[in-house]
Amino acid sequence: MTQLWRIALSSQEEISQELLEILACPACKGDIEYDRENQKLICIGECKRRYSIRDGIPVMLIDEAELPTDNRDT
Ligand SMILES: [Zn+2]
Repeated sequence: MTQLWRIALSSQEEISQELLEILACPACKGDIEYDRENQKLICIGECKRRYSIRDGIPVMLIDEAELPTDNRDT
């Protein structure tokens, strides 16, 4: 568990505002927002896909992204 937290913490450090500005959603070319709590990158453009972060590296793949319909907790 301790190791998992370390990965999460280092991921937070990696995702900088600069990086967020460079990144764009590969599906709709929308802007990306960092969800620190869930360690996800969320498209705030048209498609609202959610991209995972693995070892501090954003996985910007359409095939691996979660669609907003998969998460109806809001
Ligand atoms: Zn998008």
